[in-house]
Amino acid sequence: MSDCVFCKIVAGQIPSTKVHEDGLTLAFMDIGQVNPGHMLVAVKPHVENIYGLDDKSAAAVFQTAARVARALRKAYAPEGVTLYQANGAAAGQTVYHFHLHIVPRYDKDGMHLTWPSKNPPREQLEASAARLRAALE
Ligand code: AMP
Ligand code: ZN
Repeated sequence: MSDCVFCKIVAGQIPSTKVHEDGLTLAFMDIGQVNPGHMLVAVKPHVENIYGLDDKSAAAVFQTAARVARALRKAYAPEGVTLYQANGAAAGQTVYHFHLHIVPRYDKDGMHLTWPSKNPPREQLEASAARLRAALE
């Protein structure tokens, strides 16, 4: 896609700092660096979000994520690692080309994702699961 910043990175049309590349994915340094070592794993073809991933790309993304996470552990020994992946503005997506963040984490590093648990009754979980099972392709 011609006006997509990550397509331009994949095509080598704008600078990036690459960590790993294979046929389907590219792992490169996030320019914002929440903590040192913060990487993005993007799929190479332009796919806006998770809904556009075929099984092969989905598997390739996680394979690369696991691989670079192991490298992150070896290189930086962070206290933790968060995988973060946003789809749509409401979820926090700002670049509309599928990517997964690999974020090294430390106690009190300032990164927050609030988690407002509702703890609904079991019946509500059953009803939600039935709705989702019916929608599975
Ligand atoms: P998201 O908000 O999940 O869509 O994440 C987009 C991420 O892309 C942000 O963390 C940005 O720092 C990062 N980003 C944007 N432009 C570039 C770029 N040219 N090179 C590397 N990372 C980028
Ligand atoms: Zn793109």
